[in-house]
Amino acid sequence: MPGKQLVVFDFDWSFVDQDTDRWVFEVLSTELRRLLQTRKSAGTGMQCTPDVVNDTMRDLYEQGFKKEDILEALRILPFHPAMKRAVTSLQSRSKDTTFLCLSNSNEVYIGTILEKHGLSGLFSEIITNPAHWNPSAPDHLIIERRLPETEPPHGCSIGCLANMCKGDELDNYLKNNGGKDSFEKIVYIGDGGNDFCPLLRMRSKDLALVRKGLELDQRVKEEGEKEGLKLQVKYWEQAWQIDE
Ligand SMILES: [Mg+2]
Ligand SMILES: [Zn+2]
Repeated sequence: MPGKQLVVFDFDWSFVDQDTDRWVFEVLSTELRRLLQTRKSAGTGMQCTPDVVNDTMRDLYEQGFKKEDILEALRILPFHPAMKRAVTSLQSRSKDTTFLCLSNSNEVYIGTILEKHGLSGLFSEIITNPAHWNPSAPDHLIIERRLPETEPPHGCSIGCLANMCKGDELDNYLKNNGGKDSFEKIVYIGDGGNDFCPLLRMRSKDLALVRKGLELDQRVKEEGEKEGLKLQVKYWEQAWQIDE
């Protein structure tokens, strides 16, 4: 009998076919989309994503955009029907599969998109940046860091942003859910540079499904051997290949 399997999804450009942070501004305001970009590449070019999104979200609120505008932008974000088919069919034929979402987006974005597509119950846990509507200004979305600035830094040397080390997050999840060895196999679907760190924590029997031509693809090829990447790697371009 096959053992338990864990399927870990990055969200932007992996589970969905867009970058949630950019998309909301692209839908609502070209000016703020540009400002987000400018802020992101300021200084070292390594600005903490939830910080710049939070700053730009405040501008969006001050320009008079409403909660419903933001929610509607999220509901029309591209999500491939084949990805929905892939996860719902795997879920129905394999009761031993657990789905985990590990993302540098935020709770409100991910929750809204999953609800729109009837997938609110898919993930056993969603590890991401906290977000909430400002109680004294209900149209203002506040986004915070997963790892607050007041906490000691995560100390990861693989290049994770200050707000979240995805490798540490995966390790903690596994520790709290029976340990790594309670899963026969771990599958990780990702595309971004920050998906490289968790792959280094995985075993030779695990599998990475890496989206072709993006930053993770590049890091696996350039740094994989040097950093001791053990797991199997397969490449994909479109959601139907994940279904396969
Ligand atoms: Mg991504
Ligand atoms: Zn890390």
